[in-house]
Amino acid sequence: MFERHCVPFGLTRFGVAPDHPEVKNCQERFADVARSPHFRFFGNCEIGRDVELPQLAARYDAVLLAYGAQSERRLSLPCEPELATARTQGLYSARHFVGWYNGEPEFRRLLIGEQLARARRAVIIGNGNVALDVARILLRNPDALHPTDISSEALASLRQSKVAHVDIVARRGLLHAAFTNKELRELGREPDTHMLPPDPPTELELRPSTRAMKRKIDLLNSALSETSSETKKNAAKTWKLSFFKSPRKYIFGNEGAIKGIEWTINKYTESPESSSVAPTNETVFLPTDLVFTSIGYRSLPLPGLDELGAKFDAQRGVLLRSRGRVNPKSNVFAAGWIATGPVGVIASTMMDSFAVGDELAKFLEGNSSNTGETVDAEKMDRAVSWSDWQRLNEEELRLGKLLGRSREKFLSSADMLGFLNESR
Ligand code: NAP
Repeated sequence: MFERHCVPFGLTRFGVAPDHPEVKNCQERFADVARSPHFRFFGNCEIGRDVELPQLAARYDAVLLAYGAQSERRLSLPCEPELATARTQGLYSARHFVGWYNGEPEFRRLLIGEQLARARRAVIIGNGNVALDVARILLRNPDALHPTDISSEALASLRQSKVAHVDIVARRGLLHAAFTNKELRELGREPDTHMLPPDPPTELELRPSTRAMKRKIDLLNSALSETSSETKKNAAKTWKLSFFKSPRKYIFGNEGAIKGIEWTINKYTESPESSSVAPTNETVFLPTDLVFTSIGYRSLPLPGLDELGAKFDAQRGVLLRSRGRVNPKSNVFAAGWIATGPVGVIASTMMDSFAVGDELAKFLEGNSSNTGETVDAEKMDRAVSWSDWQRLNEEELRLGKLLGRSREKFLSSADMLGFLNESR
């Protein structure tokens, strides 16, 4: 297994919310697999930098690409969130923010702390489960996050946060909202926060024909009535779901920091149950001090794919495959978000992987002669092995225990490599 981070587990370490530890249980299954004497891990090893993909395909019987989505969709507005400008503009990609609070080394320099310490209002564009994760982390009492494995630097910044209101804004209506009911229910029950009625509130009156749509409306109505108690009304933080709005223009103040967004109001093209909306001539301005774009992840092609005859669909951001293979003549397979697009929970990705695993196993029955002699030894000296990872893991757990946390993550590759060198 080749991995560009020093540590394994990808999205379950750097994507899953720290307050959803049960979702990370699949790491135990991965660790079981790693116990096989036939498994080797090369962490800190980047394809195209340390190893070439065609080299792997030539030396192994089969290669499986399971590298997910390492970028995000863009809105095509004049200004997009970039790591370099985020701090001055207050415009963040949800993917960067999620990486930051989960301790992903490249997002340590996001430096959002200063902004959090000043901002009162935040807007999240998009209403998928990532948007709800971001909202929950902004709204949750930091004391409740302390026992988790959230980055200690992020937690310190969240303790200084002044954010008191979050708007979650989507281009379509409640009936077609991308979040799942479980995640909305969780946000609705967040202690010390108050859900304001959605904008517009009209959909709460709808009587849709499908069960799933009815449940969305019932859920929101009951979350609203639960939050109408005195305790909730006096809560320090509020949030709101806002519908039928597409961002039109970011409005910046004199010092270049965001002060609001101008939105185009959308309306259903047919009945509310039809999923499509169209823009109207109406616009609306929403003030904000921080923006998080959360409109979906996006996969990128790896260097060397062309040489293998693989086709990357740049529009959809996926690798095309047939029966798991990226080219019927090659020994390269693809599974998960790189092939399906960035949709679905871990269970759906697992089902895709099992199907590709079956194809791969069938393929190997007739094709297994290569040695797996992979890459030149000098470059591999920098690689982190599975036993190195076990030492990092034990250290993170040990520090976490001392601090009353489930894990105290290393926050940079340099710290991880430094620890491994010193403890050799
Ligand atoms: P998502 O579920 O696809 O949601 C994307 C959101 O962005 C939708 O509201 C979408 O609106 C909106 N959007 C897309 N393009 C837009 C545009 N050009 N302008 C305005 N809005 C736009 O993506 P995600 O939230 O990144 O989540 C990715 C996957 O991970 C999902 O399957 C999610 O369920 C899963 N996940 C699960 C959990 C969990 O189980 N707790 C946590 C995090 C993520 P439309 O619907 O109108 O397209």
